[in-house]
Formats: sequence, structure tokens, C-alpha cells
Amino acid sequence: MDSEGKKVVVLGCTGSIGDTCFKVLENLGTGFTVVGLSGGAKIPKLIDRAHRWRPDKICVADAEAVAQVRSAVPGSEVVCGAAGLLELATMPGVELVLNGLVGAVGLQPTLAALAEGKTVAMANKEPLVMAGGLILDMARTGGGTILPLDSEPNAIWQCLKGEDPKELRRIILTASGGPFCGRTRGELRDISPAEALDHPTWKMGPKITVDCATLMNKGFEVIEAAWLFGVAIDQVDVVVHRQSVVHSLVEFCDGAILAHMGKTDMFLPIQYALTHPGRHTVPIEPLDLAALGQLTFAAPDRENFPCLDLCYDAGRRGGTAPAALNAANEEAVGAFLGGRIGFGDIADLNGAIMADWSEGDAADVGDVLAADRVARQHAEEWIARLER
Ligand code: MG
Repeated sequence: MDSEGKKVVVLGCTGSIGDTCFKVLENLGTGFTVVGLSGGAKIPKLIDRAHRWRPDKICVADAEAVAQVRSAVPGSEVVCGAAGLLELATMPGVELVLNGLVGAVGLQPTLAALAEGKTVAMANKEPLVMAGGLILDMARTGGGTILPLDSEPNAIWQCLKGEDPKELRRIILTASGGPFCGRTRGELRDISPAEALDHPTWKMGPKITVDCATLMNKGFEVIEAAWLFGVAIDQVDVVVHRQSVVHSLVEFCDGAILAHMGKTDMFLPIQYALTHPGRHTVPIEPLDLAALGQLTFAAPDRENFPCLDLCYDAGRRGGTAPAALNAANEEAVGAFLGGRIGFGDIADLNGAIMADWSEGDAADVGDVLAADRVARQHAEEWIARLER
């Protein structure tokens, strides 16, 4: 696959999405050439990936890493930081950008790639939460396409294949409920980072795993789905489904519901994004329904997991409210993982920032980034007050 096929850039290539992307590319065998890679803290893994895929360009986090990667991978150009990510996202000849970045950092590379008419396969949901309208506008004007890599929006996309969007009544996102499903807010208060990082069904990076435990991830997916599939926030429902076998459902105007089911493995949605509208075999055992026995569904616990409704609220308010919530949450999760605040403080902090937020228009990316900065500042002040 080194000399032909669609040219691909993988942003965030050393994370869990990156790991799966490369397994999918190996499985497909031909049709794709990796010409750009970005990685953050895991430099040895980035160097291994570069030796395997021989990209033209590599982006690292900072100048220090540039020297290290440059001497280990002399055949590739090495760039760094936010400017480097933009360079990678806009490489000439690249058709597909796989965005496996974590957080707001993925916003500008996404916009830049779409502006040049590229296809961006998004596992990175925060940009869509922050600036879904701007991203869709950019895709329209630049001629780019957004493909969902995450299991839920990917499932919805598959369920809607060939359907008339006007006949769609409701999207139903499934949620595993996270590791603390069934606990009360009091019991959640002193959860440790190690406990929060132990997800029952999906193996993922630390930020999204904490977001799953607070249900913030599901709330973000509500906002993301509303943008991606052109429905109102209140047309997106959430149902807790502990087995993570039904990846999401859609309901049509006649009451018919289509569900997407499959093994709990990111390999499947990622490969579909790369092969659609066709399909390709996978090295994964098929789902054994009889062995599974039963599937369960329940309403989410909105009282003990208030982050879900904070997302609905931010989505309804619109403007810069979702960007502010995302920024507050990134700061909160960082502070929790760093041992500065407790698990229960994440929801409190997010709620406090949103209660005081007066949203303005998100007319351009400057508005969104300004909201992001201000909300982070408010969050940091909140954390500092708690620490005193
Ligand atoms: Mg998901």
C-alpha cells in the first residue's frame, strides 16, 4: 500500500482510535497510502508508526520532540504544534483526514481540511460540540465531507442509508451508562481517577473514558448527532443499554425503529467509514445472539448524572454555550485526572460555568475560540477557589 491509493493523514495516530485505524488499514491491505501522522506524548510509538508507514510529514507536540523524531525518522519532514497540525490537515493531494485527536485542539485542523474539500473522518467529537454549525458550513462551502467514526453516529449513519431524512422522527443514542451506573451523587463524590478509567465495555483514552463515566460523552453525542443528521436537540434521545451491542437506533415517522448491532469493537465503525458504501470482511468473530441471551434498555439517570442535561441545555441555548461547556469540561476532567478536584466536582464545575454563561453568537471561529478561552479561565478560577 506504499505507492498507490487514496492519500491519508492520521491525526492523533498514537491514541486508541489511531491504533484501530492502523489495524483497519492493515486489514484492507490496499487502497490507502499514509502520507501524514501526528502524535503527542507517545514518541516511541509515533516513531514505530513512522517506520511502518513512511509518511512524508510528521507533526509532534513541541520543538523538543521535533529533534528526537527527526533523527529517528530522517526520511520524513517533521513539524510541530497547532501550526503543524494545520499543515498536516491541508497536505496537497490528501483526500482523507482521520481525526483521532482529543478535545478542542481538533477544531482548526478539521475546518482547514474541510475548507480544502477533503473528507474528514471524525472520532474527535469536541469540535462538533463547539462549532457544529461552522463545521457543516465549511464542509458545504469547501466541498468537504464529514464521516462519523464513533460507534453511535456511525450506527445512525448506517441506519439512515437510503432513507429519506424528512421521514426521520427521532434518533436514539445508546449509552453503556459507564462504570458507575446505579450510583447516587453522594456515592460518586470520591471516585478515584483509577476507578473512573475502568470502563465496562469500551477501551478508550482517559479523557473520553471519564466523559463516559459522567455521561458528558453521551451528552456531547446528542449535540453531535443533532448537527450531523440535521435534527433538533430534542429529537435525540438517550437510552441506557449496558451490553453495548446496539450501537444506536433511528425511528421513522411511521414508528418503525431500525437498530444497528454489532460487536463492541471500534474496528467495525472505522472500517465502514473507510469502505462505505461498500463493506469488507473483518478479523472479528461474529456476534452470537443466542450466547448474548438478552439486551436491556433503561432510561438514563439524569438526576445523579447531571452532565447529560447540561448538554441538552447547552444545545438548546446554542451560540457559544456548547463551546463553553466543552471548555469547562476539558478543564474539569484535566483537574480530576491531575488529582486537583473530585469526581463529583466535574459536574458541579460544568454546572457552575453554564449557570453564569451568557452565550453570544458563534458566528465565526474567533467567537468560538474566545468562548473556549473565557470558559477555561472561569473553570480555572473555580478550581483554584476549591483548592483554597
Ligand atoms: Mg460513542
